Amino acid sequence: MGMDVCGKSGAYFRRNIWGWRPLAECVRHIAPDTSRKCKHWFSNDGDGLNARQSKAMALILEAALADGTIAAYVAKRNARLATLTDETCITCHGTGVRDDDIGREQGMTQRIIETAGHPRHRETGWCNGCDGRGRTRPLATWYRLTEDDIREFAAFLRESEGFQIC
Ligand SMILES: [Zn+2]
Repeated sequence: MGMDVCGKSGAYFRRNIWGWRPLAECVRHIAPDTSRKCKHWFSNDGDGLNARQSKAMALILEAALADGTIAAYVAKRNARLATLTDETCITCHGTGVRDDDIGREQGMTQRIIETAGHPRHRETGWCNGCDGRGRTRPLATWYRLTEDDIREFAAFLRESEGFQIC
């Protein structure tokens, strides 16, 4: 599932849920007053901003990119995510070997781990949920945000003449 952000000018911006959520969170943090005009940032309900609001938000985001506010936001966010510890893999329950029907059908229980440096190097049995490691990064770390995402969104806002999230 993804978010299609359609500009009234025909401009178009798209992110999957892993990219859209952190982007919308950042935008709402950086431009709270303008972003409040759109109530539904996290659903495909067709909510959005008009041309004037979109332009205003573009200017705020461009200023925040220029003065390092966005860079600091992204760095702080990444630092916080880096402190989260790995979680037990839900696919193999931490064993590193997926032995459910799918795992057996696809040969995961028989697969020998050949990756150099892998903690289970040369052991038999693998899991596609954790690369056979038994641990995964927490879900929160799957949501990605970079300065370029904000730069691209600001450029879209500038061109959009207003938008709807569909
Ligand atoms: Zn696993």
